[in-house]
Amino acid sequence: MSEQLILEPTPLNAVDRCDRCGAQAYVRATLLNGGELLFCAHHAKQYAEGLKPVVAAIQDETAKLTASAVSVPDEE
Ligand SMILES: [Zn+2]
Repeated sequence: MSEQLILEPTPLNAVDRCDRCGAQAYVRATLLNGGELLFCAHHAKQYAEGLKPVVAAIQDETAKLTASAVSVPDEE
């Protein structure tokens, strides 16, 4: 059997960190140029609009966050 390219996204985990603040990342944005950005829930929300034109795919795992507890304080 030959290897298959699996497009299933890898789940984000505790070692994935927000590119902006270093908090645990819950959103992975795959860019049109092939790059990748990781965001915490807060920064994902903050950058969502600006990223739209350059993003190929968004993997949003913020549901994990709300499912497992405490809301993120929405401060700057
Ligand atoms: Zn962040």
